[in-house]
Amino acid sequence: VAINWSRLLADPNVLAVIEKMVTEKVESFQPSVDQNGEIIFGELNGILGRDSFKVLEELATASVLSRRSESRLLSCPVHEGSFDLTARLKCTGCSSMLLRKGSLMQHACGYIGAQEAFGTNCPKCGKPAAPQSLKAMGTWYECEGCKSRFASPNVYLYCSKHNHDFPIQQAKLMDQPSFRLTPEAAEELRSRLGTLIMITRGLRAKNLQVQISGTIQGASGVQHAFDLVIQDDSNKIPVDVNLSTKEPVGIVAVLATYAKALDTQSKTPVLIAIPSASEDAKKSASAYGLLLIEGAESSSIVQQLKEFLDRVKAKNEATVKV
Ligand SMILES: [Zn+2]
Ligand SMILES: [Zn+2]
Ligand SMILES: [Zn+2]
Repeated sequence: VAINWSRLLADPNVLAVIEKMVTEKVESFQPSVDQNGEIIFGELNGILGRDSFKVLEELATASVLSRRSESRLLSCPVHEGSFDLTARLKCTGCSSMLLRKGSLMQHACGYIGAQEAFGTNCPKCGKPAAPQSLKAMGTWYECEGCKSRFASPNVYLYCSKHNHDFPIQQAKLMDQPSFRLTPEAAEELRSRLGTLIMITRGLRAKNLQVQISGTIQGASGVQHAFDLVIQDDSNKIPVDVNLSTKEPVGIVAVLATYAKALDTQSKTPVLIAIPSASEDAKKSASAYGLLLIEGAESSSIVQQLKEFLDRVKAKNEATVKV
């Protein structure tokens, strides 16, 4: 299944997570429970907060991440997602929580009694009853309220955030998953898409509106896809990004972008060649009125794009004044 990146990256939260993966080479997200009793992902601290889980699930559905169950957490059945629970023991008879816990011990002679029944000597045989001569036989509880004794008290869980408790049998088991980048998505992020994201990030940092895998409607009625569409005031600027490591980006790339730009009547189409373009490509780009930007680093590409956009803006403003 092909990943629908353009739909995913339109969501700023998704873009923030993908950016994190591309810029910091984060490949997995591990869950933990914070002091508020909620599942958090440390890698996303300060980026998404409460939305992290939802966004990671969305990326898992889209095959960008794979989901793996790490453990199951007990959750309050009323307040789903509340994991801040502490156990409470209650009397099986009167539900009092004032229980005492005792141990039954057996002496070497066979006598069984409560631990406190043994002093320095066994009450049955009278011989010394040092702790190491006593064998633990079990635990019992005694209720201070109704004085009944039992081996297994009722276990309740106290939901501290909402100040109520419930029998442990009613607790919900919630999945606590971790997420990991799928090999297919990793491959795409390492190549062209990663570059697109870095450029988009740089342009957005300069307060520009950028759409990844945007489309512009042509005069022919065809929706033309461009790698990036920059919205600068009322101007839509189409940008194609060509990556070629073996040989310089050639004339075919120029023609492809030119044909789309012509139909969409874009006055200022841009072609980015990473890391460089051939002499022929440069000549034809200039003849067709395409801005051709060369560069290996996204920062230098962003800088050149920004300077170009500033020039376009200054020209437009000058035209308006006339
Ligand atoms: Zn609750
Ligand atoms: Zn009781
Ligand atoms: Zn004894």
